[in-house]
Amino acid sequence: MSSLQTGATIGIIGGGQLGRMSAMAAARLGFKVHIYSDTVPSPAAEVADACTIASYDDENSLESFARNCDVITFEFENISLKGLKALERYCPVAPSSHILETSQDRITEKQSLSRAGIPVAPWKALYCKDDLITLYEFGLPCIVKTARLGYDGKGQYRLSDKSDLEALLAHADALSYPLVAEHIVDFEREISVMVVRNASGLCQCYDPAENHHKDGILRVSLAPAPIMPELARQAQELALNIADQLKLVGIMGVEMFHDAQGQLIINEIAPRPHNSGHWTMDGCAISQFEMHIRAVAGLPLPSTRRHSDVIMHNLIGPQDMALVPRIMEEDECCLHLYGKKEAKTGRKMGHVNRLFPRGGLPGKLVTSHLIPVFPDFSQV
Ligand code: AMP
Repeated sequence: MSSLQTGATIGIIGGGQLGRMSAMAAARLGFKVHIYSDTVPSPAAEVADACTIASYDDENSLESFARNCDVITFEFENISLKGLKALERYCPVAPSSHILETSQDRITEKQSLSRAGIPVAPWKALYCKDDLITLYEFGLPCIVKTARLGYDGKGQYRLSDKSDLEALLAHADALSYPLVAEHIVDFEREISVMVVRNASGLCQCYDPAENHHKDGILRVSLAPAPIMPELARQAQELALNIADQLKLVGIMGVEMFHDAQGQLIINEIAPRPHNSGHWTMDGCAISQFEMHIRAVAGLPLPSTRRHSDVIMHNLIGPQDMALVPRIMEEDECCLHLYGKKEAKTGRKMGHVNRLFPRGGLPGKLVTSHLIPVFPDFSQV
C-alpha cells in the first residue's frame, strides 16, 4: 500500500478508549477519523471527525462507511468477522480479517500459535457439555475460558480441584460453548510486548512491560519489566516472530507468562492497541497508538526506544476517579481521561503514567507504588 496523504480518512471500528486514543494520534498526523460504533455516546466519537452509529453486521451501513474511508482498522476484536470481510470488499482493512479470525477465538488462536511452534500452556477445546467430563483426564488445576467474547477475565472459571469441576458440571447447560481449558501456569510474573509491523514486513517492538491484574482487570503496568536483559530479548523475539508469521499490519499486544522454570508462555495476542501499552504514550517519543496509525497508513516506523521509565495505573470506577484532583497536582504525572460520563464499578475511566528517569525504577519505588493497589504485594 502507498502512504496515505494528509487529510485522508482513517476508519476505526469501535468507539472505546482505544479508538479515542488512536483517533487522537491520527489527528496529530493530519488525518481525519471516522468512527463506526454500535453505541452512542462513545469516547472515540467525541474526538473524531465523523461517526456512524449502526450494528457491526449492518451491511449497508458498513458499505457506506467503507466508501468514506481510505483505510480501516479496529480497536476491539469482538466484531463480526462477516462484517469485517464485507468492509474489505470496498476499502483496505488493517490488520486483515484473517488475523481477526485467528485472534477472536481462543481455539483458532491456540491452534495457530501451536502450529507455529510458539509456546502456550497445555490446552483443550470443549465444544459441548460432554467434553467437560474429559477435564478429569486433562488435569487439574485448570482454567476454563469462553472461546469467544471474553475480556477482562469475564467468562472464566478456575478449577482448583475436583469439587470445582463438579460445581461447573452442575451448571454445564448454562455455559456458552465452545470453551477452552488451559493448565494453570505457575507464573513468576505476567509481561507483555507491543509489536508493530508494516506492509513491507518491517517489525519493531517496545520494551516488555510487567502487568499486575486485580479481579481480572489490568491495574498496573511497569515499563520496563524488571527482568534480565536476556529474558526481555526472548520476549521481544517471540512477539516479533508472531507478528511476522501472522503478516500483521498494525500494532499487536502479546501477553505472556514468565513461569517458575524461567520459560515464556504466550497467554494471548490482541491485534490492536492494548491497555498494557499505554505507558508508551509518555515513555516513548512515538506511542503505540501513533505506531499503529503509521503502520496502517503506510508511514515510516521509527524507533520504539523508551526515553523514560513509567508506572502506568489504570483509573477504574468511582474510587479511582476520586483521586483525580490529587493526581492533577502531581509532577511528572501524565493523566489521560476517556471522557466517560458515569464511573461505574470496574469501568476503565482513564489512566495515569508516572514518569521516572530511564533506569530509575528501583524495586523500592515499584513496591511503594504497588502496595496501595495490592496491599499484600511482596514481590520486589
Ligand atoms: P485472559 O483473559 O486469558 O488474559 O486471562 C486473564 C488473567 O487470568 C490473566 O492475565 C492471568 O492473570 C490469568 N490467567 C489466564 N490464563 C491463565 C493460565 N493458563 N494460568 C494462570 N493464570 C492465567
